[in-house]
Amino acid sequence: MFFKKTESVIIAGCGRLSAKIAGELSSKGYNVTVVDKDENAFRKLPEHFSGYEIAGDATDIDALVQIGIKGASMFLALTENDNTNSLLSQIASRIFGVSKVFVRLNDPDKERILEGFNIEIIYPFKLSIGEFERLSHLSLSEVSK
Ligand code: AMP
Repeated sequence: MFFKKTESVIIAGCGRLSAKIAGELSSKGYNVTVVDKDENAFRKLPEHFSGYEIAGDATDIDALVQIGIKGASMFLALTENDNTNSLLSQIASRIFGVSKVFVRLNDPDKERILEGFNIEIIYPFKLSIGEFERLSHLSLSEVSK
């Protein structure tokens, strides 16, 4: 008999986006760990969330090792801080070889730092501009984006 290994996911920062993703992935059977330095943030997680809530600084490498970053298949850097997220995504990808790494960045200029790495970047700012263009039927120039 073959058993499908449960995939482990680590999410740094427990804002609304993280809480939604964490809830959905845990429902799908992923083994999800959410790390936030503010334990009140875990209140955003849905009731059905069945993963782990770890209060602490996600940039603490020892803590990341303890929660299993070495065996994780996915890492999401979703704190509100671009520098923290850039650092975390590189730690996950380059030091621990996590194969699927996602990072939230507010400043598109930070993209250059992560060029050449296997890291997927999510830009709420760019997504909002795109949505504005779609809804308004206006096209904003690249210069102002
Ligand atoms: P939001 O801005 O609502 O998406 O939430 C971002 C979350 O990231 C907040 O709950 C912060 O407490 C959390 N956060 C910020 N920096 C860190 C960090 N270094 N380690 C863990 N959590 C963090």
